[in-house]
Amino acid sequence: MSVDPHPITVWHGSIRALASHAKEVVDGAEWAYASSLKYPRHRATVLASRAGFRRVVAQYVAVSPQHLQVTRVCGTCQRPHGPPKLPHAGYPALWTSVSHSGDCLLIAVSTLGPIGVDVEVVRARRTIAATAARCFTPSELAAWEEEPLKDRERTFYQYWTGKEAAFKLYGLVSHPRDIEVTLSRCGAAYARAPDGHDCWPLLSLAVGSVNVAHLCVPKQKHYEALLQTKFTAGAAGTTMSPLPIPVC
Ligand SMILES: [Zn+2]
Repeated sequence: MSVDPHPITVWHGSIRALASHAKEVVDGAEWAYASSLKYPRHRATVLASRAGFRRVVAQYVAVSPQHLQVTRVCGTCQRPHGPPKLPHAGYPALWTSVSHSGDCLLIAVSTLGPIGVDVEVVRARRTIAATAARCFTPSELAAWEEEPLKDRERTFYQYWTGKEAAFKLYGLVSHPRDIEVTLSRCGAAYARAPDGHDCWPLLSLAVGSVNVAHLCVPKQKHYEALLQTKFTAGAAGTTMSPLPIPVC
């Protein structure tokens, strides 16, 4: 490993910056897939997420980003837009989760087990109350409606990213209401499955003033490992850097 084996690190990068240097690291299939997309913004996001993943994960595997072996076959349609998979042989056991919104790309990497990360740009949406009514559980909705009006948009995205991060970790849910997020005043949060048996810590990440982001880890001990982690700067030439993890 060419970086310290921190148990969990969330890497943060700019989509614009990563996309503009993507050609240096992505492979022919990734470039061809991105080039086949109609909208420039979609193209930039795909290139940035491919390039960012290579730049980050290559450091753990000690290969150059362009030589990282990664496949992305979609389980439904077989096109190359599925979640990234690393080979089992010759690579350390790593779990990753990728999220993007606006110009922000997050890549969470764990050596402990599965993780889920989600970021959203906080923006005004006319449909926000209807979406909350449709997707939030009764207790989430009640807590959200108690928030002062000026904080509603940001809090909506806190619930939303908490649900998405837990969904990415847990998978097997069919409706946003199947995961219930509880946010506390001190910033500690957790997500719970509907049967109440599984409960996962959620960590709120500071990713600039316009973004809200959550990281979901499967067990309390993982959360403690994360809080004890010290972060180092990214390697030279890497356009992604580790996020400072706030301690509640
Ligand atoms: Zn597909």
